[in-house]
This record gives sequence, structure tokens and C-alpha cells, in this order.
Amino acid sequence: MADTLQKETEKDLAKRLSGHHFIDGRLVAAVSGETFPVVNPATGAEIGQAANGTEADVNVAVEAAAKAQKEWAKMPARARGKLLIECAARLQANAEEIARLLAWETGKAIRTESRPEAMVVADCFVFYGGLAGELKGETVPFSPTMLTLTQREPIGVVGAILPWNAPLMLMAFKIAPALAAGNAVVVKSAEEAPLATLRIIEIINEVLPAGVANILSGFGPECGAPLVAHPKVGKVTFTGSVETGRYIARAAAEKLIPITLELGGKSPMIVMDDADLDKAVAGAISGMRFTRQGQSCTAASRMFVHESIIDTFVQKVSEQVNAMKMGDPLDEETDIGTIISPAQFERVQSYISLGEREAGVETLRLSAVPTDSAFQKGLFVQPVIFKGIGNDHRVAREEIFGPVTCIIPFKNYEEVLEQANDSDFGLAATIWTKSLKVAMDATQRLQAGLVQVNQNIVAQPGLSYGGIKQSGLGKEASLEAMLDHFTHKKTIIINLD
Ligand code: ADP
Ligand code: MG
Repeated sequence: MADTLQKETEKDLAKRLSGHHFIDGRLVAAVSGETFPVVNPATGAEIGQAANGTEADVNVAVEAAAKAQKEWAKMPARARGKLLIECAARLQANAEEIARLLAWETGKAIRTESRPEAMVVADCFVFYGGLAGELKGETVPFSPTMLTLTQREPIGVVGAILPWNAPLMLMAFKIAPALAAGNAVVVKSAEEAPLATLRIIEIINEVLPAGVANILSGFGPECGAPLVAHPKVGKVTFTGSVETGRYIARAAAEKLIPITLELGGKSPMIVMDDADLDKAVAGAISGMRFTRQGQSCTAASRMFVHESIIDTFVQKVSEQVNAMKMGDPLDEETDIGTIISPAQFERVQSYISLGEREAGVETLRLSAVPTDSAFQKGLFVQPVIFKGIGNDHRVAREEIFGPVTCIIPFKNYEEVLEQANDSDFGLAATIWTKSLKVAMDATQRLQAGLVQVNQNIVAQPGLSYGGIKQSGLGKEASLEAMLDHFTHKKTIIINLD
């Protein structure tokens, strides 16, 4: 439980953390001694190294977690909660250095993305710290001569596998409730974003008993898969692609353990002809996550706009995106940073080419890539709007995870509702209208885990978050998420006769 006394710059941090997992209360190298590079996507320069985790590291981490969890579970729930609230205070105090490290390794702009995300982490720990006392059971009126009750028990060791797009927030949504409920966690960070998450685990270990919160870096098949398969891992919580989600579900089926999967989306945003247009345009900007290069599971990547207002809508959205500054993620002036990795860059470009080739589709390229020579190799992509693309086109059906928006005209409400629901995904949806009747009807009929009317805010601690259809299984971020996904309910019957 050493204290980190002075604030470190992102460069100091990357250097000090390089080549390490965090297991059993300390930074440790991979068993193999191997590492892989961490690259700043804005310059292409290597900023550090990550420990290359394999099954051997998974074994060490899970054993440490299993041992620590026994004592952790015995601690009164509210005492655990108080420790989580103390973690939050330290996370808050170090939020700026965490944010800068995140911006450096992921290319997410500091002002618009990395700093707000770092703040959410502390908020999430406060939220679940306070909820630890709500791990209550019930008494059941089963028989007057039998005292029948239920109690919530931790599962044991939870494996948490992270993506790179919002790694801090998504890690917090997983580990804060798992820890509050008395579990120990072994996190596997995303290969593209290992450092800021590692720093967070280091900080909370200043407060938590050693072994309760551990993190490994490494690749999916070599490090994630053995974590899922480990016999002492009793639950896996995952955010990432549908393909990997299916793989994890199959692996979990072998062990018959519970899983939570958050697998992305292709979320519709419907703008009716009576909508407040300026508010809807602002909602489109935040909903599409233009400041995060569209790298969001809930991105409003299919915008259905009434044909009578589509030209004005597209013009206004374009003007606003054009006014956004793309550039150095660590510069306060920057609105839009970079795509995460060369592979993702290629993928986004291939979808853009696909849409561009479609006859009758208007392609708008917005904002401007930085001209500064320092960013020559930066993974900057101009946000693209495809106006008039069909809802059945691959660009409108598949999750691109990049700054590519389809703006699709519609004529009437029934038709647009059908199109909005015609998707393999079901994570989020929004409708913009002044009609309470239409809004209410849409909330009932839109097939999504989260439906919003006249706004487009992101997932929040306290509100259940998770999708239907191929968007996943289970909920995160709420009280029920902690109770249903990180505990099991034991029934106890005491014969009083
Ligand atoms: P992406 O397409 O961005 O790589 P993935 O869903 O593959 O998205 O990755 C999300 C997370 O899942 C990452 O931490 C990755 O390492 C991990 N992962 C990938 N493949 C596997 C696997 N077979 N088993 C466990 N974890 C995996
Ligand atoms: Mg992958």
C-alpha cells in the first residue's frame, strides 16, 4: 500500500509502468519477460512497453486474487464501500495525470474525451462505494415454522476483459461493483490501451488489500482466453466485438459460469419533422461521438431524418463538425483526436470507400486533418457523412467504430420505426420530436436497451446500461448490475420446530 507522493507526467508514468502487470499489490514483469510496444496513434511513436501476458501470468494473478478474495469477502460490506470511496478520492486527485496518459496512448483528445472519462472513474467508485450497504437479502414467508431468507454472496474471482475505446469508464463499470460485492478482480486490458488502466489499478491498490484488484496486459487469445478458461474464475465480464463475445460465451459455457457481454451497436437516431432542429443537431454531434472519432458502442451512426428537413439538418451538422479542430490529442484546443490503431484505421477507410462507391450517395468529408509535420503519421480520419445511403447497405448495417455517419431520409413514422428496428443490434436509440404521443410510442417500440427522447447522453452510473439482440447480455452501471451480475443469491431455510 505504498503512496505515490508526487504527480508524474505522462512520460514519467509510461516509463515507470512499462513492462508491468499489477498483481498482488505490486508491479511485476511478465513471467516470460516479454513486452510489446505501446504506440501514440497521433505520431506513430512508441511511448512505452506493455507486459506480454500469457497463461503463466493469468495463473499467478488468479491465484493471488482467489487468496485475497477470502478475506475481502469477510469484511463488512460498508467497510468495503468506504475503501472504494477512498479509492475515488485518490482517483480524483490523480485524474489529470491519468487523463493525459490516456490521451497519449489512445489519441483521445484531452479536453473533450480523456479528461471527462478519467473523472467518470472516480464517480463510479463513489456510486458503488455507497451501494455496498445495499447487498441485502430478503425474508420469505414460506412457512411459520421455518425461517426462510436469502443472502447475496460474492462469486469469487471475476475476470474483466476490456476494449480500447473507453477503457477507463468501462473498467470502472466492471470492477467497482464487483469489488463492492466482495469479489476480487483480474482485469485484462486492451492491447492498444494498457497504461492508463494499469495506473488506475496501481492507485486503488494504495487503498485496497493486496491481491483484490489485479491487471494483466496482453493479447486476446494468449492472455484473455486463459483468463476466461481458468477454473478459479467464476464470472467473466466483457466489452468488445460480437465475434469475441461469442467466443467468450462458448468458453464460459464449458465451465458453466455467468457472463456479462457488452458488444456494440448501430444505434438509430430519429429526427421527426417537428423536432427542435438546433437541439437535434447538437444531439447528433454528441450522439455520434464526433469528438471520439465515432469510437463508441452507442454512437448514433444511423440518423433517420425526415425528408423535409434533411438538407438543413445535414448542413447544420456539417457546419458544426467543420468548426471542430482535429489535432494533437494533448492540446487543449483539440476537439477531435485520432483513430486508435493502424488496423482500425484501415478498417474505417475500407468502409468509407465502400460507401463512396455507392451510386446516388453524397459523401461529405468534414473538419481537416492537421498539417503539422509532427503528425504526419497520425491516424487522423476526417469525419464522413453519407447522405442518402440505404439502411440495408453494409455501411448502415455493420458497426464501423469510426467517424462515419449514415444520414437516411424517411417519409413517415411507421416506416422509420421499422427501419430503426431493422438491425442486428439493439444497444441504444433516440427520437427527437415535440409530440409526446409519438415520443411515448417510440419509447415502447424501439428495440434497444437505452431509449432517449430529445437528448443523447452517454451511459451514467446509476442507470442500467446494456443491449438486446447482438448488442449483448446483461446490464452494467446500476445497483441491479451489481446484485444480478456480481453476486449469487443463496436461500437459507431454518427449521424452527
Ligand atoms: P477488437 O476488434 O477491437 O480487437 P475485440 O473484441 O477483439 O475487439 O477485443 C476486446 C478485448 O477482448 C481485448 O481486450 C482483446 O484482447 C480481448 N480478446 C480478443 N480475443 C479474445 C479471446 N479469444 N479471448 C478472450 N479475450 C479476447
Ligand atoms: Mg480483436
